[in-house]
Amino acid sequence: MSKLVCKKCVLDSDIPGIEINEENGLCHFCETYVPLSSQEKEQYLNRIEELFKEYSGRGNYDVIFALSGGKDSSYTLYKLKKDYPFLRVLAVQFDNGFISDYAVENAKKMCEITGCDYFKLTMEKDVLYDLFRKAAESCDAFPKFAKYRASDICNICIGIIKQKLIEQAIIQKAPFIVFAFTAGQSPNPIIKLSANFIQWSRNLFEKQLQKIGVEDRDEQFLVKNEVIKNIGEVAPSILHPLCLWDYSEDRVLETVVNLGWKSPALNDSNSTNCTLNSFACYNHLEKYGFHPYAFDIAGLVRSGEMSREEGLDKLHKELSQPLIKDAAEKLDMKLNNLQK
Ligand SMILES: [Zn+2]
Repeated sequence: MSKLVCKKCVLDSDIPGIEINEENGLCHFCETYVPLSSQEKEQYLNRIEELFKEYSGRGNYDVIFALSGGKDSSYTLYKLKKDYPFLRVLAVQFDNGFISDYAVENAKKMCEITGCDYFKLTMEKDVLYDLFRKAAESCDAFPKFAKYRASDICNICIGIIKQKLIEQAIIQKAPFIVFAFTAGQSPNPIIKLSANFIQWSRNLFEKQLQKIGVEDRDEQFLVKNEVIKNIGEVAPSILHPLCLWDYSEDRVLETVVNLGWKSPALNDSNSTNCTLNSFACYNHLEKYGFHPYAFDIAGLVRSGEMSREEGLDKLHKELSQPLIKDAAEKLDMKLNNLQK
């Protein structure tokens, strides 16, 4: 059968599990898509404001913020502090061994502008390279749906960030952790954690690391058990405010550029901050036969945050060969060995 592309988003019938309804031309996700109404968004935002007022001012910080230095997280940090200037924020940037100099410069600048503290989470390069090589060499180590959300390399990286931000929130007694996911990534706007849930997610991530051949005995990548034991009365909540705000890529870019955020010269249409991303996409395409951003971009198109044309452009843009080569060299992987 010839390939059908969903009329509304960018998913196509070549992706395992995706069928396009021939009558209306839509994929299953678009057929059943119900966006948050503006009223629901407002209710969530009111709830977040109530939470901020009730729980801030207690610990060393109010918010532990996941700052990649990319445009979305830079914008979210800026708007968060503009809307809620009373929040004391610690922005954490994970140096995964591949973040661009621009990303570090941008992150520090955004912290300066917004008056937030900056913390760079670093690990030894060899440890990180070994970790990402194992992720690249793994196949289907994660639960079934993980590969639709992101590449194996990205899933590992995001996993570490989540673990270490939760750990930081507990240590700093900060009641909130904020991520800059867009509505297209369809996060739950408010997620209340509990000690049990944190322990469960820690152990789950530990198993996933073991599956790709990584024993994290020193708990470098995991929330330390000792920290979970000392969790206070209130476990932190994860908030996703960006999915409740009006979003367009152009407006976000314009806002941050006006603040002095520098657009990186990276030739990667899906990442403005990570030089490993092109390789991660290449690796995923080789292993699974579809683009790791397909669902992410489809979500953005479906929710109206990106035009369908732009989404298709991003998915079909050729990956940067120099970026792929550089990353493969660092990871000590031969590119032709990856080809199937
Ligand atoms: Zn669709």
